[in-house]
Amino acid sequence: MYTNQTRRSCEIVEMFGKCVYLVLFLLNVSGFPQKNVAHEETEPQSYKLYSRADWGAKLSTDERPLKTPVPYVIIHHTAIPLACNTTEECMADMRSMQSYHQGLGWGDIGYNFCIGNDGSAYEGRGWRWIGIHAGKANSLSVGICLIGDWRVDEPPAAMLQTAKELIRDGIMRGVISPSYRLMGHGQVMSTECPGTRLLNEISTWNNYWPGQFDSSHHAHLVKEYSSIRLCECGGELLILAVAKCRHNNSAMLMLVLPVFSAIMLGVFAVPPPTLASIDPEENEVITYDFPFVSRAGWQARTPTKRAPLSVPVEYVVLHHSYTPAACSDRAGCARAMRSMQDFHMDDRGWCDVGYNFGVGGDGVAYEGRGWDTLGAHALHFNTVSLGICIIGDWTDSLPPAEQLKTVKALIEAGISQGYIKPDYKIVGHRQVRDTKCPGQALFEEIKTWPHYSKYPASPDDLVDMKLVKVAS
Ligand SMILES: [Zn+2]
Ligand SMILES: [Zn+2]
Repeated sequence: MYTNQTRRSCEIVEMFGKCVYLVLFLLNVSGFPQKNVAHEETEPQSYKLYSRADWGAKLSTDERPLKTPVPYVIIHHTAIPLACNTTEECMADMRSMQSYHQGLGWGDIGYNFCIGNDGSAYEGRGWRWIGIHAGKANSLSVGICLIGDWRVDEPPAAMLQTAKELIRDGIMRGVISPSYRLMGHGQVMSTECPGTRLLNEISTWNNYWPGQFDSSHHAHLVKEYSSIRLCECGGELLILAVAKCRHNNSAMLMLVLPVFSAIMLGVFAVPPPTLASIDPEENEVITYDFPFVSRAGWQARTPTKRAPLSVPVEYVVLHHSYTPAACSDRAGCARAMRSMQDFHMDDRGWCDVGYNFGVGGDGVAYEGRGWDTLGAHALHFNTVSLGICIIGDWTDSLPPAEQLKTVKALIEAGISQGYIKPDYKIVGHRQVRDTKCPGQALFEEIKTWPHYSKYPASPDDLVDMKLVKVAS
């Protein structure tokens, strides 16, 4: 009896140790647990949004990507007494504003979105591109124009409601920071816009900021993640580790949960990383000293969801594509990016191509999920790393020098923009997952790079891939 009890407590202690170890490991590599929302339906859009194609927009000649999430939402009016009442009138207004703004050399309509009296929204530059509507706030904001003159008249309730819905939607998409500041155009520049009546109205809304625009504010802003809905995107469920324990011994759960909660409290008590290292003026135009093609350039599909990546990251995980095979020109590499995206979205059911970037044999870096979106490329490692896919099969041969040079330049750009820690570690995919990726030849090559890191490099890394496999 005594012996049995002892053995039983030993088993419990052993199980306890294993579980804490697992939880610690997963926390170590995941940062915080992700909600499993793979089966969660996207909330129906509560307002009508007409796309650029719907209103007959001309092509934009000014597509500079907005660095998201932005800390500001700027509200405008058009100051033209007659607001549009029907879809046809609003679409005509959109076309004439675009012509006018293009005539000013702006390349496109200035606003990100406009809203008509009917409560419908009209896509201007949309969620992805920097607008021209509020001077130095352009690259830090989404600009929403309520079509009409709102100095004296009150905008219709449907129009105001849509403005609020649009902002909410922007937060859900990760484009607008949950701690955004809402302002009228006149708080950024000397203008009557958006009209006294409309300004009075928005001053009662959530997140209204009564002061002047302060371009240094961004430096104090913290990125917030907890209130943004995470997409599955290859994410892992931390709770799995606890579920495993419960399966084996229900008493274990009682032991693990308090520890688990304490750890979680600790995790959330740690402030999220700041953007202090990022200069806002730098994101006016992102230029790289190596060839770079944005998503539009390889005709990427729109992601179904996105989740922010906590930056700067500590790891860069290098992959090869295996298939598609190596590509050597723009058309071939763009095709390779599209085929990887199709595979990840259609066959794997992910919300986008898994990698943050692809690099082709043409020496061009192709934007995948980009710098600040959570990738799906390395189990348990997605939340702490950027994943770069070196397109091709590098089992027996090395990528062209130009391709590797661009990989290095891309990492340098990530450091200088504050997305990668200067003392980052490089690992090959095979070090964190049971896979041959990134190919034997390429793996031998990256072992010679200065930031290459053995993984696990120290007991702090707490990694035992056998345990991980048990958990997953
Ligand atoms: Zn304005
Ligand atoms: Zn890989």
